[in-house]
Amino acid sequence: MSPDDLIALDRAHVWHPYGPMPGTHDPLVVESARGVRLRLADGRELVDGMSSWWAAIHGYGHPVLDAALAEQAGKMSHVMFGGLTHEPAVRLAAKLVEITPAPLQHVFLCDSGSVGVEVAIKMCLQYWRSLGQTRKTKLLTWRGGYHGDTFNPMSVCDPDGGMHSLWRGVLPVQLFAEAPPAEFEHDYVAHLAAVIEEHADDLAAVIVEPVVQGAGGMRFHDARYLHVLRELCLTHDVLLVFDEIATGFGRTGELFAADHAGISPDVMCVGKAMSGGYLSMAATLCTSRVADGISQGEVPILAHGPTFMGNPLASAVSLASIDLLLSQDWRSAVKRIESELTAGLAPARDLPHVRDVRVLGAIGVVQLDHPVDMAAATKAATDAGVWLRPFRDLIYTMPPFVSTTDDVATITEGILAAALVA
Ligand code: PMP
Repeated sequence: MSPDDLIALDRAHVWHPYGPMPGTHDPLVVESARGVRLRLADGRELVDGMSSWWAAIHGYGHPVLDAALAEQAGKMSHVMFGGLTHEPAVRLAAKLVEITPAPLQHVFLCDSGSVGVEVAIKMCLQYWRSLGQTRKTKLLTWRGGYHGDTFNPMSVCDPDGGMHSLWRGVLPVQLFAEAPPAEFEHDYVAHLAAVIEEHADDLAAVIVEPVVQGAGGMRFHDARYLHVLRELCLTHDVLLVFDEIATGFGRTGELFAADHAGISPDVMCVGKAMSGGYLSMAATLCTSRVADGISQGEVPILAHGPTFMGNPLASAVSLASIDLLLSQDWRSAVKRIESELTAGLAPARDLPHVRDVRVLGAIGVVQLDHPVDMAAATKAATDAGVWLRPFRDLIYTMPPFVSTTDDVATITEGILAAALVA
């Protein structure tokens, strides 16, 4: 089919993320992807500055991941997980327990990050219900956060960020603390302590994105706030949930963002980069305290069971992706990308309308003082050979870890070009 025919059909029938229907923008047609490059139908090649939304850390078409997928496809592509088990899922779960903070012991394999957050929330609510603490039904989160697009995760997204404000009045009503500042501030610690103390009797859990608030604004904060949260949650008998769906698997410079603080949550969600971006896969881990609590309840089961739970293909490629990551000096790769992003984005500070430039691990952000003109910014970036997806007032990148120095330079040049016209 010609690219023009494809786009016409796409506009007529295909819903894209956060898009209208019928479509109003012509998406770029990708024909193939190799390494860090997307090959478009018109012959252009773009360096992917987005890792397909944090996921493709090893780039596209990696021989190790291709082989793992092909080998598993030769054995079994899918089988239901109820009453059956298999090596890819069991080994993946054991690997996750091995590499995440120690007290996390039990793994629920799911099919998307949003479902992983749903499961985390259900675990927490059910834990307190099982213990007869029926008042503890509320969740507390930071403003400026993002946890997914299904109803419970939407209820803990930034209420003022515009993402889910359409659903006000229908969503479960949760509690919000202010977003954490970048630097460590004692006043903010006092604010967190006051909010948790005030609501402790009603709180099932505090759920946050540790160190990086992603889709809600690409903000970074001091990891010592995680210590503060851990202590407050223990003191007030509230569960702590870390959503590491974006931050997990090395992106921030530690394997998990929780590792910046050396602490462990009671429940943790991972996804995105877990499968190297090959297949939709996520997981929710919890401690024995949480699992035992649920198991002692009137309904001693976790009542959740996605059809594609523990999918063997997704499990096999996730295991291969994690092993591939750990077999390499990923820490040095992320550190190198961090310094290249820092140097490459520094000139943005002198551009008009740039409010802030920030880099952490393999994440680089240029924040403007006004909403980005998405069409102009995207065109400037693609003209410079880079795929970016600016949103709100942000032009940002989270490149694959296999990006070379030249690739990162192309990306930062694309960001500067986009920032000039946005
Ligand atoms: N939590 C966080 C922190 C995320 O960044 C995302 C995805 N952007 C999600 C949850 C939802 O994951 P998914 O898109 O796989 O449902």
